[in-house]
Amino acid sequence: MKQFKSESKRLMDMMINSIYTHKEIFLREIISNASDAIDKLYFRSLTDQSVGINAGDFEITIELDKQNRTILVSDNGCGMSEEELDKNLGTIAKSGSLAFKNENEKTENVDIIGQFGVGFYSAFMVSDKVVVESLAFGADKAYRWSSSGAEGYTIEPCDKDTVGTTVTMHIKEDNGDEKYSEYLDQYKISELIKKYSDYIRHPIKMAFETKKAVEGKEGEFEDVTEIRTLNSMIPLWKKKKSEVKDEDYNNFYKEKFFDFEDPAKIIHTSTEGQATFNALMFIPARTPFDYYTKDYEKGLQLYSRGVLIMDKCADLLPDHFSFVKGLVDSEDLSLNISREMLQHDGQLKLIAKTLEKKIKTELEKMLKNEREAYEKFFKSFGVQLKFGIYNGYGMNKDLLKDLLIFVSSSEKKYVTLKEYKERMKDTQNDIYYACGETVEKIEMLPQCDSVKEKGFEVLYLTENVDEFALKMMADYDGKKFVNICDEQFDLESEDEKKALEQKNTDNKEMFEEIKNAIGDSVNAVRFTSKLKNHPVCLTSEGGISLEMEKTLNSMPGNEQGIKAQIVLEINAEHPIGEKIISLYKDDKETLKKYSKLLYDEACLIGGRSLNDPAEHSRLVSELMIK
Ligand code: ADP
Repeated sequence: MKQFKSESKRLMDMMINSIYTHKEIFLREIISNASDAIDKLYFRSLTDQSVGINAGDFEITIELDKQNRTILVSDNGCGMSEEELDKNLGTIAKSGSLAFKNENEKTENVDIIGQFGVGFYSAFMVSDKVVVESLAFGADKAYRWSSSGAEGYTIEPCDKDTVGTTVTMHIKEDNGDEKYSEYLDQYKISELIKKYSDYIRHPIKMAFETKKAVEGKEGEFEDVTEIRTLNSMIPLWKKKKSEVKDEDYNNFYKEKFFDFEDPAKIIHTSTEGQATFNALMFIPARTPFDYYTKDYEKGLQLYSRGVLIMDKCADLLPDHFSFVKGLVDSEDLSLNISREMLQHDGQLKLIAKTLEKKIKTELEKMLKNEREAYEKFFKSFGVQLKFGIYNGYGMNKDLLKDLLIFVSSSEKKYVTLKEYKERMKDTQNDIYYACGETVEKIEMLPQCDSVKEKGFEVLYLTENVDEFALKMMADYDGKKFVNICDEQFDLESEDEKKALEQKNTDNKEMFEEIKNAIGDSVNAVRFTSKLKNHPVCLTSEGGISLEMEKTLNSMPGNEQGIKAQIVLEINAEHPIGEKIISLYKDDKETLKKYSKLLYDEACLIGGRSLNDPAEHSRLVSELMIK
């Protein structure tokens, strides 16, 4: 007997001991494997004459045997060789569900089994033994794989003269709570096929024993066997929207894209004309765990006339909408087109453009009509939209600008740029923003007070990418974006500005002295009138803001490479102003110490760490004992 690979053994254990309530999904998994196997052989038959099966002859059949308690699922697909049986059924192919389980080990009751495609092993939820007999296409010998549980499996030669696979599940005995016998009932099985596998493209057939009236003999019936096809074979995406229930879409999404939550948005669309296609797309309700990592691969499944030709066609989705999952089925693409050729296919580009517009329109509708849902969506994927603006050098600005939302000072709720612009004051020319780690920290910035007091609304940017995206956009409908922590930002009248300028010129030498005391950390020191209560603040000159400096330096390889040009601004109206002027006259030694303290104060309130905490502590203590 061979041992299962360790991950597979764990999954097997999970299945055998499962207390999962929807064990019925095992049938969906086995049928979908059969259907995939048929697709593979069908695909091959397009270019290989030797396959020798007509497209119309592919089928999946189900046989039930109540006496022996078995369910047989047979297909005439590609089959598996001895090595494939060993490799595919001895090792777990898709470890998505296990990875998920590991991550969520502590969260109990997470419904993973029914929601992820756990595949073949799910048969063990209802069977105490599973036998797979298979003849691979092109092979001359058939093999039987069988296993009665986690201890292991055997593979031996067997008799099977048609290409394909038969899976025999030996159904468990009923016990107190579990009525496994219901899976041996034809009507139950028909119902499960309708529920989970209706759209499978190949007929799923089952023989029904029924009675039929004997012709010409009134009242007499004879036993006949009738072969019925249990599924409608119309893929979900080819059905009319009105014929599909939300539940069907949701089940389809969860099964196909391995999510355990219903999607936040379903986009089902079909287009005729320049490009003819059906598309079924979904926006996940939550950020996939690998979404913001390198492992995440964007793309939509690509079908040509119902046949899958590519599992993740990246060219169908722009990066800014990479969170969309789904598929496209087009009549216009040739079945055996190669990946390389697809990239240059004009038809594909046309489809991608149409989809991009469609996704945008749907997001706009959501923003307009389902604000709460949109905000939830934005929390998961908004960063991606902002990266979209940044990465495209502003190229996608017009497409994406109205999908952005930011928390603002007026109600601490999300606003769109349009809403902001519409309620701007007559006296306001620019769109104001401030950056920080959290909304609370931004509100504490000294610069915020006076702007808010004057009744202006400020956008609070809390993501690293935010300011980069706004800088890339430069303006929104002609209104410039202005950082209120920028040195040039002011709300003063011309007269006030002049008076301040004079005051700064008068104290030029004092500021030189202060700057020298602080050292390289600041580029300049001056008085400001933009502060209300606070004595000091930091601003930046030039293109790089304090937040941008932080972000850029936190990127690997960039440590301390980039410096914002920092200005220490001192509140001209604050008593501290008078104090430093008098110290400059009488006590330069103390002025030096106070300069350092003022700079430290400005750092702390702006959320920056101190250059020399030990010195700071010494200076404060010195003051305290004075
Ligand atoms: P998945 O289908 O998600 O890859 P499964 O555990 O269900 O994972 O199946 C593992 C592999 O076994 C499949 O990828 C496929 O290669 C093979 N397989 C399963 N059932 C069949 C079948 N009926 N015919 C041919 N190959 C099959």
